[in-house]
Amino acid sequence: MPALVRQSKESQLESKSLEDLFCGLATDKNFISIPAGPPTGLKRDTKFEPNYDAKDLLLSRDEIIATRIPDYADANEPSTVLLSLKHTKDQLLSISGFPEPLEPLSEKKYEVKPIEGIGMGIFATEDIAIGETIIRERPLLVYPVALPIDESGWPKTFHETAADLMTEDAKLAFFDLHNCHGEAKPEATGIIATNGLEIGELPGYQGPYGAVCKEISRANHSCSNNAIFSWDMLSFTEELRAVRAIGKGEEICISYGGHYQSHPRASRQTNLLMYNFTCNCPTCALPEEESKKSDAQRAIIQKTAEKDLDGFNLNGDLDILLWCMDHSQPKDKIIKRCLTMLDMMDQEGIYPECWLYYSKLCKAYCALEDADNARLWAKKAAARMRGEHGCDGGFHAVAEKPEETMCWGLRTLPSEGTSEEGM
Ligand SMILES: [Zn+2]
Repeated sequence: MPALVRQSKESQLESKSLEDLFCGLATDKNFISIPAGPPTGLKRDTKFEPNYDAKDLLLSRDEIIATRIPDYADANEPSTVLLSLKHTKDQLLSISGFPEPLEPLSEKKYEVKPIEGIGMGIFATEDIAIGETIIRERPLLVYPVALPIDESGWPKTFHETAADLMTEDAKLAFFDLHNCHGEAKPEATGIIATNGLEIGELPGYQGPYGAVCKEISRANHSCSNNAIFSWDMLSFTEELRAVRAIGKGEEICISYGGHYQSHPRASRQTNLLMYNFTCNCPTCALPEEESKKSDAQRAIIQKTAEKDLDGFNLNGDLDILLWCMDHSQPKDKIIKRCLTMLDMMDQEGIYPECWLYYSKLCKAYCALEDADNARLWAKKAAARMRGEHGCDGGFHAVAEKPEETMCWGLRTLPSEGTSEEGM
């Protein structure tokens, strides 16, 4: 490291707080920040404050409407039937430019086709890279997951009324979707319960909404899913993105409930009973002994990730700072730990709080002035963030110039009274 840079780095160590050193300061315009959290503010799933009390949730029939967003439809700009509170529609339409045009994808790399004994599924017709958007579509229907109203005594359910409003093509596609509830529920309700993808809140209503899509709702479940679905409120579209590299011919699967991926196989199977199937994904199909190992590994991943996140929220990158200053700690201590976590995640195909490990790896390699590895991990992190959050989260900037991050060379600074250890 040039003497002047080293001198400036040494003065930084004295003058900055731990958080400043590792997260970068907004005022430190000369430094590139290594992302210290999942991307924020870019998902565009804008949250709105509810404008009524929860006690008023039981609504009168007049307050629920079915409408089309946008209120015209053509081949390039299909419409969604929105079942919602009246003021939800009013608030959506008051957003300038809403809905933004549906941005079509340049290439189709999937097909929907039958799977013997299962139904339909989505398959890759070409190799798909991690982070790629596979499908972007405007849903057939967006609806409140829990309809807070007593429908008894009415000739048609709200779900049936909503289906009536669809274009003929959309209606055909909707009623062609699988209904795992048979005759236990009205058909439209059964299709919604089978195919709905939760999208979060819309303005003016406290509960979550769901979306039924012509294509994305065809995705089957896997406990080691290679894709996720993601909602963009401003364009009123749902996206399917790859969270792992997907090979040509491979089935593209989502997780029907991300929160139970850390659960053991028996518990996952119980949770999935609401969809009326027994999961036979590669993880669930493992022989008994291997399945037990997988259960244990998933529990370790979840517990460790939660603990590491708590530690990070409390102390920031204290572990890296101490490692930078104390050269008696092995040179590869941070790197080894992060790689172990990411390796376990890759084995299980689940990635809770993985940004933390990418972030620490980039910081550690920058601290060691290892530009090649810093760049490599920043690129891997960017692709993963793109898959999970739809943007690189700031990792591309790190990959461009790792030497300009605040962490650069912090471990290679001289440390009094200690000697360097080999890797
Ligand atoms: Zn499974």
